[in-house]
Amino acid sequence: MCGIIGYIGKKNPIEFLIDGLKKLEYRGYDSSGIAIKDENSVQLIKSTGRIKNLENKINNTKVLDGNIGIAHTRWATHGMPTVANAHPHKVSKVTLVHNGIIENAEELKAKLMEEGQIFKSDTDTEVACAVINKYYTGNPISAITKATNILRGSYAFGIIFDDQDKLYAVRKDSPLIVGIGNYENYIASDIAAIINYTNKYMLLNDNEVIELSNDNIKIYKDNKEIKKEVSTANISAEEADKGDYKHFMLKEIMEEPLVLARTLNKYINDMSKIYDISGYKEIHIVACGSAMYAGLIGKNLIEEKANIKCFVECASEYRYEKVVYDRKTLVILVSQSGETADTIAAMRKAKENDIDTLAIVNVKTSTIAREADNVIFIEAGPEIAVATTKAYLLQVAILSLIALRAAYKKGLEQKYTEILTEAKELPVKLQKVLNDHDKFLKIAQDIYKNHDVFYIGRGVDYAMCLEGSLKLKEVSYTHSDAYQAGELKHGTISLIEKDTPVFAIISDDKIKNKTESNVIEVASRGAKVFTITNDINIKDHYFKYVVPKIDYYFQPILIVPPLQLVGYYVGDLKGLDIDKPRNLAKSVTVE
Ligand code: GLU
Repeated sequence: MCGIIGYIGKKNPIEFLIDGLKKLEYRGYDSSGIAIKDENSVQLIKSTGRIKNLENKINNTKVLDGNIGIAHTRWATHGMPTVANAHPHKVSKVTLVHNGIIENAEELKAKLMEEGQIFKSDTDTEVACAVINKYYTGNPISAITKATNILRGSYAFGIIFDDQDKLYAVRKDSPLIVGIGNYENYIASDIAAIINYTNKYMLLNDNEVIELSNDNIKIYKDNKEIKKEVSTANISAEEADKGDYKHFMLKEIMEEPLVLARTLNKYINDMSKIYDISGYKEIHIVACGSAMYAGLIGKNLIEEKANIKCFVECASEYRYEKVVYDRKTLVILVSQSGETADTIAAMRKAKENDIDTLAIVNVKTSTIAREADNVIFIEAGPEIAVATTKAYLLQVAILSLIALRAAYKKGLEQKYTEILTEAKELPVKLQKVLNDHDKFLKIAQDIYKNHDVFYIGRGVDYAMCLEGSLKLKEVSYTHSDAYQAGELKHGTISLIEKDTPVFAIISDDKIKNKTESNVIEVASRGAKVFTITNDINIKDHYFKYVVPKIDYYFQPILIVPPLQLVGYYVGDLKGLDIDKPRNLAKSVTVE
């Protein structure tokens, strides 16, 4: 995680760097720093805490009038979030910012210390800096290339040298793009950080070394110059901006009808773009966090409707466990950023075993998008809030379309065309649900002082419970658990007492009577039951919200957003930093 931004051009880069850091703050926010270079020297300014602390420090400092700069917002992996550990790090003539983990840092550090190197921080980053410095004798490209042959792990580096009037960068398994401006050029972890300045960018492959001046970009692979294509990003500056909303999370929830329409139109009008899984005997959906919970909805639909065995695994387990690939298997990777380290490793494991891979991702420039055999893009636009909402919903939508297409291909779905026609109405129906936001605010007002909240449901409803519960935990720091409704009485029901909030999700006609019985069990023990259902006839025990009933394939798309809004409002009522919850970062690019 962490955000990197860099500038070379004609102006003083402070404003650009701070603006970029603010856009990248969702990636890490325990400390931050900048380095500015003029003709003679490099100045470092660093601070702990949020970017605004760094901004204050810069405002009270006499800053060099240079026009090369690099900046970093950190999510610590090695060493506490202190000023000494904050980036940039400087060793002799080399100054750098880093995103990733140097896995052999300890070993390299010991060797360098024997050679007399003194270290000022606990970071793996400073070790990388010292390695580049060791090889630097005036040729940056050769020093960086040599260092990449020695450093193990993941890295995106922005680098400046005291005696060079250029900006350098290199990446491996961590994101970094080059932005192309007008007599100025940039590096950034994410296009959203520079979209106010340019929509032209270049993707970098592993260990390509970049040399930027204000009017030129050179790329070297193994010390030889190579050429690169320029791409154009199709996101707008507004999409990366909070507008009038109090938080990005609220904005992103409210954008759901729009991005859903964008995604559904793209695929419903041409279902051949939805990868056909009907020929596989087994599916493994591998992902982390909310993407894994989207996968659980997908599993339910793929098994139920397309009759294909499907397993859902969290990527951090999958990558290390023994996986028996003894049937014709497809591995589906789900990741908003396409940079989730564990999911990348799971994808590579499948590929090493000659297993087909399909990725569902948002970021088109990402590692997973580039390496998976097949990719389906969701069209979420930039998602800035750390807790995912709109991207999760689109992952669910794509998995629903995958299940629907496979069921149709296998002759198991007679109502294919009608279901697709009905799906086109989804954004309008979702808008109606979101228009009821006051009702979800009222629920939040009712429960925000509670310490424990439960979610119960069966089958696909349980998968939704897991996401509702996770949202609440992430942004409101409220303890909550999701339970298969029938399982609660095997232990956890002992925690239900008077006024304990329990959300009951009841949408699956096959089992709704069973869940209703479980609702009565908790209600009779004093629980406040908030029922979210698609069935007007379900009994109201304390509060009931009925979403429009739609085909089974797409029902979760109308039920989860109310749960997202409840999580959001509880966090807001508690006055928390919703877009950047403590300890979390958006794309988990480290293990
Ligand atoms: N491993 C580095 C550190 O702990 C970089 C972490 C990051 O990507 O923010 O400082």
